[in-house]
Amino acid sequence: MNQERLLTGDRPTGRLHLGHLVGSIQNRVALQDRYDCYFIIADLHTLTTKPRKEEILRARESIIEMVTDYIACGIDPLKSTIYLQSAIHAVYELNLIFSMMISLNRLTGLPSIKEMAKAAQIDDEGTPFGLIGYPVLQAADILGPRAVIVPIGKDNESHVECTRDIARRFNHLYGEVFPMPEALIGDVASLIGTDGKAKMSKSLNNAIFLSDDPKTVEKKVRGMYTDPNRIHADIPGRVEGNPVFTYHEAFNPCKARVEYFKEQYRLGAIGDMEIKRALIEVINQMLAPIREKRALLLADKGYVEKIIVQGTEKARIVFDETLKEVRSVMGLSGTWNKLTRAARDYQPPGD
Ligand code: ATP
Ligand code: MG
Repeated sequence: MNQERLLTGDRPTGRLHLGHLVGSIQNRVALQDRYDCYFIIADLHTLTTKPRKEEILRARESIIEMVTDYIACGIDPLKSTIYLQSAIHAVYELNLIFSMMISLNRLTGLPSIKEMAKAAQIDDEGTPFGLIGYPVLQAADILGPRAVIVPIGKDNESHVECTRDIARRFNHLYGEVFPMPEALIGDVASLIGTDGKAKMSKSLNNAIFLSDDPKTVEKKVRGMYTDPNRIHADIPGRVEGNPVFTYHEAFNPCKARVEYFKEQYRLGAIGDMEIKRALIEVINQMLAPIREKRALLLADKGYVEKIIVQGTEKARIVFDETLKEVRSVMGLSGTWNKLTRAARDYQPPGD
């Protein structure tokens, strides 16, 4: 196996959806034989927009669901490392060090942060410092294992740019410690939600989840937004920007059938319901083996937890190696070794 590392992950804000599948998961599965893969459960990132205790507890519950989705989609825990971000101490330290390597203007100028602040409706309280630092924390995740490739959706691309800026600045100040990570955008850079308004998101009520049962998929697809001007099946319809067609393009393995549907739709020769029925079938067929694997995994009590514990222990070693080098090149170790060792060995209360 190539020893080069790959890092990506998700916030445990719910189950995974079709957007994750085409935006990132498919790339992860395809690349796990070519890279030493690290998949982060980014629970500290969840705090940036969901800081309330009930939200934190809900995120804890989502962790098992999310990791079950990973494995059900084909991520192999024997090949890849799945770990919990908040349990890696070096992340907190790297986050602080990296916050010195990027300007506030650079971070506040990012549209993604503004959008997240708006979506989380925390604007009236002011945007938390931690949310502005979201890409810095992400840099700690990526540079901790010195990942060279980061499979993500389009909405995250600018954050990997920030990681590159941070790595460049760090290397300039202290020497070549970090490789330059590259973002790898999925086949569908940003899958639109069933509402046709925004990207599919766990938190926007516009998602088809990988764990949805066939009836739920049917209900969601039936309710999908299509061409609003088409009130009868014999009116020529618009294919462009029509999410039902976007999904057919992304998920229907029979490209000739999709082309036929498009032609007929443009001519006003086929009804919305027929296109939707075909889509329901395609999605349910695609999800059937994932659902089956999910059920098996969930029946094996404790299995997923064990995977996370083992992955976290492994990730901790890798992150600690990086932190050790970071401290050393910065001159943060050495004379004060005793003190730094005491700080490193410190166990937070309650753990
Ligand atoms: P939240 O609503 O909590 O922000 P989310 O659904 O946007 O959740 P994230 O955990 O923020 O999911 O994103 C995890 C990864 O999946 C990121 O790399 C992101 O770019 C990618 N991703 C999320 N939604 C989509 C989508 N609709 N299309 C393509 N990629 C996506
Ligand atoms: Mg998101």
